[in-house]
Amino acid sequence: MSRIAYVNGRYVPHRDASVHVEDRGYQFADGVYEVCEVRAGRLIDARLHLDRLDRSLRELRIAPAMSRAALLTVLRETVRRNRVRDGLVYMQVTRGAARRDHAFPAAQTAPALVVTARAADPAQGARLAESGIAVITVPDTRWARVDIKSVSLLPNVLAKQQAKEAGAREAWFVDAAGNVTEGASTNAWIVTSAGALVTRPADSGILRGITRTVLMAVAASEGLRVEERAFSRAEALEAREAFISSASGIVLPVVRIDGQAVGDGKVGPVARRLRTRFHDFAEAGS
Ligand code: PLP
Repeated sequence: MSRIAYVNGRYVPHRDASVHVEDRGYQFADGVYEVCEVRAGRLIDARLHLDRLDRSLRELRIAPAMSRAALLTVLRETVRRNRVRDGLVYMQVTRGAARRDHAFPAAQTAPALVVTARAADPAQGARLAESGIAVITVPDTRWARVDIKSVSLLPNVLAKQQAKEAGAREAWFVDAAGNVTEGASTNAWIVTSAGALVTRPADSGILRGITRTVLMAVAASEGLRVEERAFSRAEALEAREAFISSASGIVLPVVRIDGQAVGDGKVGPVARRLRTRFHDFAEAGS
């Protein structure tokens, strides 16, 4: 079956899906995006993802491309046309196409909207969750507003490639103080020897992950204490468990950091439990 993309008002074959050469997303990374899980044909936590999209747009003074109800319709239709049961839906809004000039284009310039959907095999995620993953650490060289889900992802791209070349699945950014901020496309967590969950506060130094937010509720229901505070690479290496969270991977246990085993080097019970319970707390739309 051929894939279909939504591009500025039209559903088009994926191979023909293209934006203007002067789209500001293409030329300046002047845009934002969201990735939402699709599970059993339903959008997971769409409300929270669209709230965050609105916030990202507001912070960058980009107008919404359409109303929330209309966008939800486009997301569902893109999922439907691609016959995605389990997978991801991606949406991107840029400041539109205009003659290249750094400052904002004329106020009437329409924002550009692109939506794609693709299937993912849940069994593959389950296998990764069983084996656990390796991460490497890299210096956090990103700008100071990574709380905005901007398409400007060059440091993340380079970090992910470095991880891949090192045989790892994710890269954890480490700030100048030696503290882990987050992964290249995930939030970072550890479980201390006392059993507390630790993750960095969602200030401007990380993206406030939707999965992270929902996991706070899962943790509370499991009677787990969550400490939102900075943790160092050294503390992570001493931790009982570590894991990453994202809409695409939910919870994936981290069993090696820079080649060193975390805890006993095996997947731990806390990460396993949080992963199992996540969808009891996430919102499944229609
Ligand atoms: N941090 C970064 C840098 C990300 O790119 C992502 C997801 O893309 C996350 C964290 C996790 O966010 P969410 O749980 O909303 O997928």
